[in-house]
Amino acid sequence: MVTMVLLPEKKATHKLVRVEDGGLLLTALEPYCTATSLIEFARKDGSVHVHPQVRKRKIFVGQAQEHSSAIGIPSCTMSCVLDPGSWTKLAWSVVTGTLLVCLLLATSRMGSLYGDGEEVDAHVSYQATEDLGLCQMPQSPSCLSHDNRARLSSLPLDGSLTFSNTSSAASDFGLIRFSEPSAVVHPKSVSDIEAVVHAVLRDTRSGLTLAAKGRGHSVHGQAQALNGVVIEMSSLKGIKVAPHGEPGCSQPFVDAAGGELWIDVLKETLKEGLAPRSWTDYLYLSIGGTLSNAGIGGQTFLFGPEISNVLQLDVVTGTGHSVKCSPLNNPDLFHGVLGGLGQFGIITNARIVLEPAHEKVRWIRAMYTDFATFTRDQELLVSEPPESAFDYIEGFVVLKNEDPNNGWNSVPFDGKKINPSMIPEEGGSVLYYIEVVKKFSSNDVVSLGETVERMLAPLSFIPTLVFTTDVPYEKFLNRLHDVEVSLTSQGLWDVPHPWLNLFVPRSSIASFDALIFKHMIKDDFTGPILIYPLKRERWDSRSSAVIPDESIFYLVAFLRISFPASGPLLSSLIAENDKIMEVCHNAKLGCKMYLPEYEDLDSWKLHFGERWEAFARRKHKYDPDFILAPGQNIFPRIQTSPATAIA
Ligand SMILES: Cc1cc2nc3c(=O)[nH]c(=O)nc-3n(C[C@H](O)[C@H](O)[C@H](O)COP(=O)(O)OP(=O)(O)OC[C@H]3O[C@@H](n4cnc5c(N)ncnc54)[C@H](O)[C@@H]3O)c2cc1C
Repeated sequence: MVTMVLLPEKKATHKLVRVEDGGLLLTALEPYCTATSLIEFARKDGSVHVHPQVRKRKIFVGQAQEHSSAIGIPSCTMSCVLDPGSWTKLAWSVVTGTLLVCLLLATSRMGSLYGDGEEVDAHVSYQATEDLGLCQMPQSPSCLSHDNRARLSSLPLDGSLTFSNTSSAASDFGLIRFSEPSAVVHPKSVSDIEAVVHAVLRDTRSGLTLAAKGRGHSVHGQAQALNGVVIEMSSLKGIKVAPHGEPGCSQPFVDAAGGELWIDVLKETLKEGLAPRSWTDYLYLSIGGTLSNAGIGGQTFLFGPEISNVLQLDVVTGTGHSVKCSPLNNPDLFHGVLGGLGQFGIITNARIVLEPAHEKVRWIRAMYTDFATFTRDQELLVSEPPESAFDYIEGFVVLKNEDPNNGWNSVPFDGKKINPSMIPEEGGSVLYYIEVVKKFSSNDVVSLGETVERMLAPLSFIPTLVFTTDVPYEKFLNRLHDVEVSLTSQGLWDVPHPWLNLFVPRSSIASFDALIFKHMIKDDFTGPILIYPLKRERWDSRSSAVIPDESIFYLVAFLRISFPASGPLLSSLIAENDKIMEVCHNAKLGCKMYLPEYEDLDSWKLHFGERWEAFARRKHKYDPDFILAPGQNIFPRIQTSPATAIA
């Protein structure tokens, strides 16, 4: 094991340095580059954990294990710490032209450095590590105090608890943030979750925290808990369909445990000819994880996000009590938890509205060169009365090139290609397309063509660039699974995903196109870009979800993929996201981040705006010790003194 402390250096470049025991050190990192570099390192060695902590000080601790022959250096284990808290110092040093030298340090096992490395003072390293308050972090994956460990070990759980196999809970789909917990719980009952919450609450000294993890499909460590406890919700099972509702209410619904996946809910409900009516694009997400955000997709304009389609929740709050809540029963908790970023309680069950499922869908994509026409048509479509509207409406930006993943050839179905001569020359460097769906059953097939034609008639897409296919309903809803399988087989699924999701008010969308799509999207952009309108009236303003204050606003999603062997560094992709945020802010576009990730309280307050007070009040009420969902970086756990953070 080798430990080092790194201060950010001026350049983003990094070097691997061989040390005496065959270990590797990374040097010359910038703030984001800690994770970045380690990830890029990990791409070669296959295993790495970087821990972004401690909150505002933003310390990243990394531990990379096992190196492969890819860079010709023997196996090793490595840990490193970066203190981007000194980024301010770096900024100064850049201004003054002073080169901030990378401080490479090692523990007693480090020994001398070879190659491009510099020999450094091991004593300083140790000191710095202590200063950063990391306890034994680089050396030991667990910082659990004896008391906490004993308390957790003695819990009489129906499920299980482990202190050793914790690394899977240290990572997520983003592969940007890595915080290893001290313990992972696999609950089998709600009382398991209550017991763990109580055990964590009893720790008043070491700042123990607790995160529920759905599928870990967050991209910025939101479901992680550095040195805390992670509850793997997937082990809490249960899907029960009520096709005829319950006495007094015939509305069909499904009760699903918080860790169940939407795909499994779909499969169960289809057995009764039913399905939820609002969806995300990808179904291997957990009920609790999506309901903690919003759950949006092509049906949101019609039925609202997934959080607008919940009848009742069972929640274990941060005080360790299991509470049933609904719009009539404990409404404050119910609305708070929906879109509440996991801050107020752990969703153990959700009752979700169902509708009759259809057999098939007609799936249509129609292309545009002109942004104003594209958005005007999208808004026309979402403004139709529900009975005459399409059942799903989304939109995408593609590059004006032949790239099969991101260019115009990604638009036709079944891998068909567009003849380049069909692409109009006018317009900018990108193209747009609308994606719509009409559900149908075998009985409707005769009239379907006519119906769809009538619905498309008012639109002004390029007439030669419209593509249609019919697929089973379930296949359509689960359409991204094929993409996942294909990318996984190519080793391109488990790669970093520096995503940025924004809600952009309708009044700003043209400026957004001019400032961002037309100017900042380069032809090496990897990953889909989504853009489609949503209607505020379909969102319950009592929920915790934050959306712009306009009747129509757009989801704009930059679903960037950082490919291992090619393309820009992860750090530069993250920097591009930051730039987009900065441009939006400076141009006062009124954007709100979806799946938000902020590092400091001021940014969170800005994000919530006038709703911050209600959010903070609920936190004090339902999780007064601030133990829940620390990976969101909103409320640091209260230890000895009352929270001053949210004053
Ligand atoms: C390929 C892909 C496609 C996606 N498509 C969409 C899309 O179309 N629309 C959309 O809206 N989102 C989409 N997402 C984002 C997704 O909604 C979020 O990642 C969300 O967090 C759900 O992921 P998860 O279930 O793995 O939750 P996690 O990442 O595990 O958790 C997310 C947050 O919720 C908390 N949490 C988890 N479970 C519970 C629980 N039971 N109770 C309380 N809090 C809990 C966690 O502590 C964490 O703070 C997509 C993500 C991926 C990877």
